[in-house]
Amino acid sequence: MDPAELKAIVRTIPDFPKPGILFRDITTLIAHGRGFAATIDRLVDRALMADASAVAGIEARGFIFGAAVAARLGIGFIPLRKPGKLPMPTIGVDYQLEYGEARLELDPGAVEDGEKVLLMDDLLATGGTALAAVDLLRQAGARVHHALFVIDLHELKGGHLLREEGLDVQAIMQ
Ligand code: 5GP
Repeated sequence: MDPAELKAIVRTIPDFPKPGILFRDITTLIAHGRGFAATIDRLVDRALMADASAVAGIEARGFIFGAAVAARLGIGFIPLRKPGKLPMPTIGVDYQLEYGEARLELDPGAVEDGEKVLLMDDLLATGGTALAAVDLLRQAGARVHHALFVIDLHELKGGHLLREEGLDVQAIMQ
């Protein structure tokens, strides 16, 4: 399936989670067997270029795509979690969302010092979430040079923000 066909499977929900926001809902994409498989194929092609020894995914939709890609590459998966989920001592980063605050947490033992990690999430918007994730992974000792998304909402300029941090940014749909 080509990118235009995949794009057509993503559902758009107006006014979620707030009035005026057009939410790109990947539920319909992952429910579509051929579409999901083609999405993972395309992500794997891009992920190979990162030459990473692990994929880090952002809870929760980043787990779906990131874990599938890690398994296909035969490398580990590192979950970047919402607060209070991990049972061991964690390190965390607080960051601003468009509406309110958020936090990501990580088991520092999940990252080998100096290992090359590919960051993945379902969607890049302003880039605030991905930037916090990169910060957290770097605090844990990872080298992060590549970020990969299913969807990049180009007009929100998250890609610019991440490139300023020295990252190569890839997505399979705009
Ligand atoms: P950012 O921090 O780049 O502004 O927002 C990206 C984060 O919010 C990602 O973790 C992503 O899952 C979520 N997000 C924001 N808008 C959307 C959307 O329209 N669709 C989906 N699926 N996720 C979104």
